[in-house]
Amino acid sequence: MQKRVMESGQEHRVQLGVLGDPIAQSRSPLMHQAALDAAGIPGEYIAIHVTREHLGDVMRDIRVQGFRGVNVTIPHKVEVMNYLDELDEAARRIGAVNTVVNEQGRLKGYNTDGVGYVRSLKEEAIAQLSGLKIMMLGAGGAARGVLDALVAEQPDTVYIVNRTVDKAASLAAEWNGAVKVEGYGLEDAERLVREVDVLINTTSVGMYPAIDELPFPAEWIPEGIVVSDLIYNPLETRLLLESKRRGCKTHGGLGMFIYQGAIAYEHWLGQTPSIPHMREALLQSLGNQTE
Ligand code: NAP
Repeated sequence: MQKRVMESGQEHRVQLGVLGDPIAQSRSPLMHQAALDAAGIPGEYIAIHVTREHLGDVMRDIRVQGFRGVNVTIPHKVEVMNYLDELDEAARRIGAVNTVVNEQGRLKGYNTDGVGYVRSLKEEAIAQLSGLKIMMLGAGGAARGVLDALVAEQPDTVYIVNRTVDKAASLAAEWNGAVKVEGYGLEDAERLVREVDVLINTTSVGMYPAIDELPFPAEWIPEGIVVSDLIYNPLETRLLLESKRRGCKTHGGLGMFIYQGAIAYEHWLGQTPSIPHMREALLQSLGNQTE
């Protein structure tokens, strides 16, 4: 990329951004700008406010205005697929796109949320997931990407436990195959969690401002397992605090946010960004947050 930047003789600035509604709260611009700056790549990563009715127009602009790519966030991750030329296999299975790469006017969609989560889990908490039993709480949008990436690691079993049991069951049916994936309601959680090596919360329970809430009672958490939470506001949820008290190894959601961005950056620029610079930029901003 740097070669491409230099060879025109003129400075070529890389154009990147994130589309969403609302978007002002997004921390992607500061994280990606920190990575571009650390690598010495001239360019901008900007927040673009897009309402549903303008998504098609904005995607046409992205295609022709020299953008190398964009991230896509709430509420456009599904709708944006209508405006792409190609879909990565995992994005097709998950049914949502959070990263678009512009290959000279041809737009390809990826989903880096789940693989970002698993890369973070393996880097920060547990290097090997193969052969393990995992419980995933929640069956919403984030759970789909996480489940797809978990199954690729060939665990022994994934139990999906959700308040609405039908959603857990249909998610399990979609991914059950080489890896055993089963769906349950919360009434089965206490019994099943005793079997697992890793517990992952993909629900929004415990997120700011309801930071005292737990997705299930702390007494059910077995001692010494790995407990992970997708939430990063707060950085340490009550579930993680209670798990730590029970001798568990804990893993928060900030790493997922960083690595989904890092993998998107790799798709756009063909090089690995500086994870420490991205993390530092985020921690500074979270330290200053008012919400
Ligand atoms: P979503 O599609 O709205 O799904 C929410 C899930 O939480 C559903 O399974 C829902 O159960 C469950 N839930 C909500 N309130 C509940 C309650 N009071 N009791 C029990 N279950 C409850 O949301 P999402 O997009 O998947 O996001 C889920 C969480 O992941 C959020 O906290 C989000 O911030 C986090 N996340 C983090 C990252 C990151 O980069 N770290 C990325 C994406 C998402 P029902 O099906 O029964 O409604």
